[in-house]
Amino acid sequence: MAANKKLLFLPGDGIGPEVMTEVRRVIDWMDHRRTVSFDITEGLIGGAAIDATGGPLPDDTLDVAINSDAVLMGAVGGPKWETMPFEVQPERGLLGIRRELGLFANLRPALVFDALASASTLKEEVVSGLDIMIVRELTGGIYFGEPRGVEDLPGGGRKGVNTLTYTTAEVQRIGRVAFDLAQKRNGRVCSIDKANVLETTVMWREDMESIKGEFPDVELSHMYVDNAAMQLVRNPKQFDVVVTTNMFGDILSDCAAMLTGSLGMLPSASLGELDESGRRAALYEPVHGSAPDITGEGIANPLATILSYSMLLRYSFDMSEDADLIDQAVCNVLDGGLRTADIMERGKVRVSTETMGKAIIKELDKLAA
Ligand code: NAD
Repeated sequence: MAANKKLLFLPGDGIGPEVMTEVRRVIDWMDHRRTVSFDITEGLIGGAAIDATGGPLPDDTLDVAINSDAVLMGAVGGPKWETMPFEVQPERGLLGIRRELGLFANLRPALVFDALASASTLKEEVVSGLDIMIVRELTGGIYFGEPRGVEDLPGGGRKGVNTLTYTTAEVQRIGRVAFDLAQKRNGRVCSIDKANVLETTVMWREDMESIKGEFPDVELSHMYVDNAAMQLVRNPKQFDVVVTTNMFGDILSDCAAMLTGSLGMLPSASLGELDESGRRAALYEPVHGSAPDITGEGIANPLATILSYSMLLRYSFDMSEDADLIDQAVCNVLDGGLRTADIMERGKVRVSTETMGKAIIKELDKLAA
């Protein structure tokens, strides 16, 4: 198969390069099986970019990202760069690439593999079989609204201000991503707002209603954010796709993530706008950071990054069969009892990053035989 798909690889810092090595194994496997072939460029971001170029997001990286079909990233950051000025820290590289690519939709699946159901802090029956998708608006809302800041008051004391703003276009845009996903899943969208208190989210609710006619096979419901937080831990399986604002999504997606019990298992995708040719910018990355406490030990869990690659196949290239194959391989390896340290349980076999990566390849071989 011709290598006509352009992929930018950004290993980043800490355990980023370690987990990306294992994804590379999966990509090479697919290449050899001729299911998909990528034209891969490796770039610098975060601390690694600071060390090499002085800044966290070199122009070269951004240029290649803009011209790629998808970007796959490890993680950025670490103690070495923590004392640098805020505006040149590694994390600014990540925020910069999200901004420059216009990545407005953040997708965070919370999926509980049967083999790990007992790892959640919630009762097994509450989370087993859980499969929900949180869609968070990523470039608007209170994190970006103006006016903002802290000012001194004439009579003493200070006043802090942040502003929650959304336009109808922004709400409908993120809404369509959620509806579209629901069409490929179980046909239900729950939109989360605080319409009993915040006018902006009254509008959010109305704007979500305004597009539901475009997706007649999808059911739309609404929930206040405080109730949603409660329902996520009481009965998370009631949800299919959840769509919400930047700040509510920030909080709820972390809450949903923890239902699964492990940071090392969580993939994510951030998507941009569809252009006329049907292409959209996309960045895929594990939810976890650079884990400086275990960097270099060879024990990091590579599965969140491998599952991010599966999302890349599914959402950037519509290659659901290949994505399903990877997801199944992960599931089977866990069923077989292999565990990296972060998901280790009594009676299971503890393995290194590399052994876990190789086990996924062995399982792919079996599934494809
Ligand atoms: P972290 O996610 O790096 O680590 C939190 C804990 O989870 C650590 O104990 C770590 O060892 C463990 N962990 C994380 N990923 C793991 C994996 N794949 N396998 C096994 N264990 C894993 O969060 P942190 O410690 O708060 O942050 C460390 C650095 O990463 C900071 O510089 C932070 O700014 C950065 N960070 C980057 C991103 C990103 O690149 N998207 C996200 C979060 C944090």
